[in-house]
Amino acid sequence: MTRLSSDELHLGRLFNGFDYKLQVWVVNGVVRGCGHPASMRLCGAPCCNAYRYAGQRIAEVPGAERFPQQMTRRA
Ligand SMILES: [Zn+2]
Repeated sequence: MTRLSSDELHLGRLFNGFDYKLQVWVVNGVVRGCGHPASMRLCGAPCCNAYRYAGQRIAEVPGAERFPQQMTRRA
């Protein structure tokens, strides 16, 4: 996966990289699933944000990181 310095932003949103607020990986603007075993999701509760938001566009997830639009890379 990408290093911090290679995070890619698009229109003020993370496009490829790690969202530190939600603690999820983002690939092509979409949240990646976490890969945790089902045993970590007791009673059907999501084990983490990556599971909760998997497959959603990061731009539509509440609480996702935002960046100045002129930024193309994380500082
Ligand atoms: Zn998880």
